[in-house]
Amino acid sequence: MTDNSDDWKPQTALVHGGTLRSQFGETSEAIYLTQGFLYESAQAAEARFKGEEPGFIYSRYANPTVDMFEKRVCALEGAEDARATASGMAAVSAALLCSLKAGDHVVAARALFGSCRWVVETLMPRYGIETTLVDGASLEAWEGAVRPNTKLFFLESPTNPTLEVCDIAAIARLTNGIGARLVVDNVFATPLLQKPLELGAHVVVYSATKHIDGQGRCLGGVILSDKEWIDEHLHDYFRHTGPSLSPFNAWTLLKGLETLPLRVRQQMENAARAADYLAEHPKVSRVVYPGRKDHPQAEIVARQMKGGSTLVCFDLKDGKEAAFAFENALKIIGISNNLGDAKSLVTHPATTTHKNLDDDARAQAGIGPGTLRLSLGLEDAEDLIKDLDQALQRA
Ligand SMILES: *Cc1c(COP(=O)(O)O)cnc(C)c1O
Repeated sequence: MTDNSDDWKPQTALVHGGTLRSQFGETSEAIYLTQGFLYESAQAAEARFKGEEPGFIYSRYANPTVDMFEKRVCALEGAEDARATASGMAAVSAALLCSLKAGDHVVAARALFGSCRWVVETLMPRYGIETTLVDGASLEAWEGAVRPNTKLFFLESPTNPTLEVCDIAAIARLTNGIGARLVVDNVFATPLLQKPLELGAHVVVYSATKHIDGQGRCLGGVILSDKEWIDEHLHDYFRHTGPSLSPFNAWTLLKGLETLPLRVRQQMENAARAADYLAEHPKVSRVVYPGRKDHPQAEIVARQMKGGSTLVCFDLKDGKEAAFAFENALKIIGISNNLGDAKSLVTHPATTTHKNLDDDARAQAGIGPGTLRLSLGLEDAEDLIKDLDQALQRA
């Protein structure tokens, strides 16, 4: 079944895109919780396996509910094709590994989500893939890292947790110049605030666990690119290694997509309010928020993003002790390493998400003992500021 989603604006695509309605005409999308599919005849099975007849074969390859989720994300992102995965890390590892082989070289920005960094720094070299980590904000660093066998660039923007920004269009031009490909992890920006494919990136990946679900329920991920790249590199890798998304989780994520713009807009407004409040507080030594004029790369933000972010990074002057006292005094905002949720959450990266980095690497990533990452939820902004205020008094 096809739709005319090409003409739709994002909010319409997020409610209707990819819908496959059954003979019952259900309003909400159906959950096709099935492993396999029956064929009308032996001849039909043969034709389907040969690819001569459309239809589903096995849910590791494709499933109607998962297909709706993939088509809906494609419509939003403006991508030709997508594959949904069981988690964000399944998406990242498949997107990176499916096209690489021993002897290839990968350049990645140093400021990566912890597990992404492990895949690049630890896993890839075990299989003979050379890797270099660079300062993602420096174009010269990307250029300087290129080798004759460089096949892939990988970055995250804004970064976790310090919300630094990479110039995606400039890095994409560099990638094209050497015949390599750029993969962007767009979790922190969400598909609403930044469109890496339009900026020249070749592949975009999401942890759908974050804003796409946005209500703390299930894990998921998605890889988007042009049809040619998916057919050539991802198709077989995906079918035979099995990172597929469960139909039930795909349904949950479909429901999440319907309200994504409303939630991201409200969370971003809350983040902007919190950033402005924190920037004026005497116990706070630094606030990083891509929506503020004092963001270190405000000019790039203005060029490639439609809004700030739903997260704020800030430093307390008195280090770890103050950060812990602040976290423990919070009444509404919860302590959790998750993000993009309806509930506001805070984490102390040095002792949680980034505890595996040594002191030098942490300092290089801009993470100090007083650094906190705040993910804004859907609560009332005034209640959140009151909570920050009373907790800062105890910090
Ligand atoms: C959470 C996250 C991931 C991993 O996603 P999971 O769904 O937890 O596997 C990857 N990249 C970024 C930037 C993330 O925030």
